[in-house]
Amino acid sequence: MQVFFNLITGMKVMKFGGTSVGNPDRIKALIPLIDDDERKIVVLSAMSGTTNSLVEITDLLYAGNINEASLKNDELRSKYHQVVEELFATDTFRKEGHELIDSHFEYIRNFTLRVFTKLQEKAILAQGELISTSLFHLLLQERNIKSILLPALCFMRIDKDGEPDSFYIKENIKRELKNHTSENIIITQGFICRNAYGEIDNLKRGGSDFTASLIGAAVKASEIQIWTDINGFHNNDPRFVENTKVIRELSFDEAAELAYFGAKILHPSSVNPARESNIPVRLKNTMEPEDAGTLITSGSILQDYKAVAAKDGISVLRIRSDRMLMAYGFLRKVFEIFEAYRTPIDMITTSEVAVSITIDNSQFINQIAKDLKELGTVEIEENQTIVCVVGDFRTERTGSAPEIFEALNTIPLKMISYGGSPNSLSLLIDTTNKIEALRLLSKHLFN
Ligand code: ASP
Ligand code: MG
Repeated sequence: MQVFFNLITGMKVMKFGGTSVGNPDRIKALIPLIDDDERKIVVLSAMSGTTNSLVEITDLLYAGNINEASLKNDELRSKYHQVVEELFATDTFRKEGHELIDSHFEYIRNFTLRVFTKLQEKAILAQGELISTSLFHLLLQERNIKSILLPALCFMRIDKDGEPDSFYIKENIKRELKNHTSENIIITQGFICRNAYGEIDNLKRGGSDFTASLIGAAVKASEIQIWTDINGFHNNDPRFVENTKVIRELSFDEAAELAYFGAKILHPSSVNPARESNIPVRLKNTMEPEDAGTLITSGSILQDYKAVAAKDGISVLRIRSDRMLMAYGFLRKVFEIFEAYRTPIDMITTSEVAVSITIDNSQFINQIAKDLKELGTVEIEENQTIVCVVGDFRTERTGSAPEIFEALNTIPLKMISYGGSPNSLSLLIDTTNKIEALRLLSKHLFN
């Protein structure tokens, strides 16, 4: 029993994202990163672009456009045959690779012949990760490197609310691992899972990070590594701001804020399982493996300002009502309307007679506004951006924000949220002002 315990806990989880398996050379480049004496679980995404293509295929099938779906399917199939040609060095393994690709794409093709529902959609979306992991497993076999392919569908599961079933995951992955104690490299799929009814499902787009974190928590990993093509979290968005720097250390709370507010490198849901089990998360770059990356732990030290991130596509609803004056229960009525449309609220500011609320999912914005009009006047403004500054904003501190307001002197601030989190201050601005705001903040806070 003790032996099994040691073989299961203390392992590393290493997740490689879509670009890290994006072409045959990148896939081959993973081998030196994983081939050592340590026991580890390797979580792979689909090759970059694949899940998008699969989504296009399922969209076409929903629309009944079977011919075009088949064409897309064939296109993706030939892309993968090309990958096989370049990935393997021997005819035997090439042959096996081609057969594998054919079996997956025949499977997808079969769905074009039937009624198309969510069930089929999820089964198709799962193919990307199933293919990338099978190809990688085959490549390791060709190189005589011992590994096992552990199907995520045997242990990864969500409950009827779509939340991970941690108990099920833990029990089942442990059982699977106990059956495989002689291999150091355990390969599994990110993103895919089964739902409460046993059907194939997934953890939503970008969910491979979440897979890695759930596995890390389930096996009490020593570290969860998320490998991408950038050296870690940057202190500002490198697409818009020059001279951004990698943040070497972050707390779980800080990382969660950054992940949520637009820093695309880490899926926001993936912070929680690691935080709850207190397992360090390290962000690493497959192109620069020597770089230490960003380490996320519970022990990271606070700094005045650590990073800035921005989230676009925000809409604000402003509700104004004299009935709010000195009244209780008003906000409850407001919130109930958002709840009825299952629309999460991001930022909120209130005064005695008005409340402003932001949402990032505007699917039901008109219905929400219509219902809110029963309570008062409603104004909607779209194309907004939340800028989030991560740093030391503990409420007992003095003088923690003047640099921010000085920096943004020339930019109209639509909403300010302070005191909600000790780790961040958020501001709402017009998206047209975003780049300027990010540059000004970098100049004033980090230089
Ligand atoms: N392949 C999935 C996606 O593109 C999951 C992931 O890569 O994290 O969303
Ligand atoms: Mg990702």
